[in-house]
Amino acid sequence: PPVGEKYEYQAEVSRLMDLIVNSLYSNKEVFLRELISNASDALDKLRFLSVTEPELLKDAVDLDIRIQTDKDNGIVTITDSGIGMTRQELIDCLGTIAQSGTAKFLKALKDSKDAGSDNNLIGQFGVGFYSAFLVSERIVVSTKSPRSDKQYVWEGEANASSYTIREETDPQNLIPRGTRLTLYLKRDDKGFADPERVQKLVKNYSQFVSFPIYSWQEKGYTKEVEVDEDPAEAKKDEQSATSEKKKKTKTVVERYWDWDLTNENQPIWLRNPKEVSTEEYNEFYKKTFNEYLEPLASSHFTTEGEVEFRSVLYVPSIAPSGKDDIVNPKTKSIRLYVKRVFISDDFDGELFPRYLSFVKGVVDSNDLPLNVSREILQESRIVRIMRKRLVRKAFDMILGISMSENKEDYEKFWDNFGKYLKLGCIEDRENHKRIAPLLRFFSSQSEEEMISLDEYVENMKPEQKDIYYIAADSVTSARSAPFLERLLQKDLEVLYLVDPIDEVAVQNLKSYKDKNFVDISKEDLDIGDKNEEKEKVIKQEFGQTCDWIKKRLGDKVASVQISNRLSSSPCVLVAGKFGYSANMERLMKSQTV
Ligand code: ADP
Ligand code: MG
Repeated sequence: PPVGEKYEYQAEVSRLMDLIVNSLYSNKEVFLRELISNASDALDKLRFLSVTEPELLKDAVDLDIRIQTDKDNGIVTITDSGIGMTRQELIDCLGTIAQSGTAKFLKALKDSKDAGSDNNLIGQFGVGFYSAFLVSERIVVSTKSPRSDKQYVWEGEANASSYTIREETDPQNLIPRGTRLTLYLKRDDKGFADPERVQKLVKNYSQFVSFPIYSWQEKGYTKEVEVDEDPAEAKKDEQSATSEKKKKTKTVVERYWDWDLTNENQPIWLRNPKEVSTEEYNEFYKKTFNEYLEPLASSHFTTEGEVEFRSVLYVPSIAPSGKDDIVNPKTKSIRLYVKRVFISDDFDGELFPRYLSFVKGVVDSNDLPLNVSREILQESRIVRIMRKRLVRKAFDMILGISMSENKEDYEKFWDNFGKYLKLGCIEDRENHKRIAPLLRFFSSQSEEEMISLDEYVENMKPEQKDIYYIAADSVTSARSAPFLERLLQKDLEVLYLVDPIDEVAVQNLKSYKDKNFVDISKEDLDIGDKNEEKEKVIKQEFGQTCDWIKKRLGDKVASVQISNRLSSSPCVLVAGKFGYSANMERLMKSQTV
């Protein structure tokens, strides 16, 4: 065979290959999933680029993936008609680790102290192309980019520190476009060249790939064939009076080989929601977003009329790790498709408000142009409508969790994503009505379990007009605030806002069900128990005392007043009606320091 030019792998690649082989040896079959996912990515890329460069499709071949097996020789061939690779891309992609999925895996492996738990990582990360060395002793990648007029061959062996690249010269191997991987399986792994096994693995791992995957399968059909008559029987027939001769037939199975469509190939969002099971939705979520935990909830819907689109949305079961996520979400949460063509997962901000960035999903529109860009999205009326509907559906889904029989679900949700909704109170006035019923707080009557605003309102006294709250840094310090005394005495419930963002969120809401939020630490709190006669007497009695205290404290306080808000404490420091609350001041101080 022609010799190619020799290249050394980047050091990380060799290390990665070692790691993969050592940690995934008991799960070798993942190689097929990885290679199919690469083929599918390559087809996606081609389809996307061809929107603006239709000449890329000039070799009219179908967009598909074909897997052929040679059981006797232990060879598996995977061919896609995707974007292929140029010579330089072969070096960049298959000789270095620049690619996200693989790099992430490497980092996770490094982070996981317990080497024995590596198996759990498989579900979380794509381990990539090199996983093919789990089962192959030699891999040949022959690839033709539509941007190059030459086809190149990359060739590598297991446990080697280098690979070669040469031009494809064998006319038999030429393909119009795309990539063909030939795996020469290790002796013990030749079982993967069994067509039935491949079929099973494809069904299992790649049911959501949105291009057809064909595998080369032996098929059969039955047919009737005439058989020679037994001579003795024939004689009997002759003796019989009938003149017409009956011919004998027999059923046989005719065998042949052909391409078999092996995957579903119907994107889940195009299917009828009634026919998709929860397991299928969850599987789709895990495969699509590289998640290993089941989502908390999902919602599949179609909208028609003014704007037509289909979508499946999910609420994950845990918040993304990393501090800056909430304010600067970098998560690729929403995958946008136009007429089933994957466009981008980088348009979250346009399709969803930032505070809902934790929701994941796919959106497929028939109304957007295929060459849609961020600029187009930002100005599109269609997108504004889509965004509105998506947000509404997301809230319905969250409301669904809050009404679930299983109380723990919403507790889990609130733990993970409560902060996001509070941010929504600040950023999305228009949806206050949807956000407010989802909020949860501790209160003077429920210090252990959080309550909703609806529960608060239900528990209000007949004469009570407002929703009372106090902001503090913990339930313990809220409980011991002197402002509470009179309210507790009158059995009025007070919300404890113990998360720094709570107070700002509530102030943005202003009211809930026509009841104003009232900070009990502000002066002039009216809890409906004024006794003017008595106040007059007290004011006369203590007026001079107040003046004296004010003189002593000078500018440190704005004023000293008689109050009816305390029952056992002698005095209390309150914030002015138009000033910041003590908690806010604490907050602002902590931000300027
Ligand atoms: P990842 O898929 O996470 O990027 P892989 O190790 O699976 O990492 O693949 C590395 C890179 O090799 C891909 O990003 C892609 O550029 C290239 N590649 C792999 N397989 C194909 C293919 N079938 N067609 C075109 N490019 C491919
Ligand atoms: Mg990959």
